[in-house]
Amino acid sequence: SERLKAGLSRTRQQFGGGLAGLFGRRKIDEDLLEELESTLLMADCGVEATTHLLDEARKRWKRDKLENAEELQGALAEALTETLAPLEAPLSVDGHRPFIIMIAGVNGAGKTTSIGKLAKYFQSQGKSVLLAAGDTFRAAAREQLVTWGERNNVTVIAQDGGDAAAVIFDAVNAARARGIDVVLADTAGRLPTQLHLMEEIAKVRRVIAKAEPSGPHEVLLVLDANIGQNALTQVKAFDAAIGVTGLVLTKLDGTAKGGVVAAIARQCPKPLRFIGVGEGIDDLQPFRAGEFVEALFG
Ligand code: GDP
Repeated sequence: SERLKAGLSRTRQQFGGGLAGLFGRRKIDEDLLEELESTLLMADCGVEATTHLLDEARKRWKRDKLENAEELQGALAEALTETLAPLEAPLSVDGHRPFIIMIAGVNGAGKTTSIGKLAKYFQSQGKSVLLAAGDTFRAAAREQLVTWGERNNVTVIAQDGGDAAAVIFDAVNAARARGIDVVLADTAGRLPTQLHLMEEIAKVRRVIAKAEPSGPHEVLLVLDANIGQNALTQVKAFDAAIGVTGLVLTKLDGTAKGGVVAAIARQCPKPLRFIGVGEGIDDLQPFRAGEFVEALFG
């Protein structure tokens, strides 16, 4: 779609644009493959995914007897689509009511913004939504959520200086009493240097399970695409602590590091539920591998 294409413009320039320069009228040779390698690395695909994509491109070059660079571009797009395909697993909230989504991430990743976007997304699908202001460490985060809820007619369960566990426990019970479809539970962020401090958030997860034994039904980790390869470290750290079941990759619009999705696919594959491609409330899209690659190359 055009919106996705516009959102991915920086990555397009780095990735697609770099490639467009490469794939002019020329023959395929080792020089071309070497330049391709640098382009993939600069778009933050990382060494592992870059090697994989190059191998795949090379395989198709030989197998399909490709001759010019343009054909290699097609081969690369195909290889990338295949690499990213395992990440495509849209989130369905139909299995439980309330369907409880726990949201985690480091400070500034785009957690609060994504919660607003997600609430809007689920509402547009006819689902009722309740927010739990579980980031009780930052009053600003709570206020941001409460303000957003008031503006959009969404109930926000919050407490002045309360503890996160109590807020989330209340929220789950309120959602059940009111027949709400989806609970979005915010959690306290942390500094990227504090990935070892996971006891608090692990406790929040346990509290959700206590309030609703089948939950949480989704543990979403919000990642800022600008951190590139550091995303892998964050996925692993949060996964070890709370069992991440899905990812939201934000700020793809502002970065040239969109290749990180390939690194995620190869090194810590988790369903990439949504991508953020702007600050607006509608700038959140379910991830589709084919669409994504088309927006990069097309
Ligand atoms: P939190 O600390 O994780 O809750 O992060 P916030 O939700 O407050 O977001 C931090 C900043 O990133 C804000 O200025 C957001 O507007 C911005 N942001 C979040 N998602 C996106 C996105 O997909 N694209 C862009 N361009 N900015 C985003």
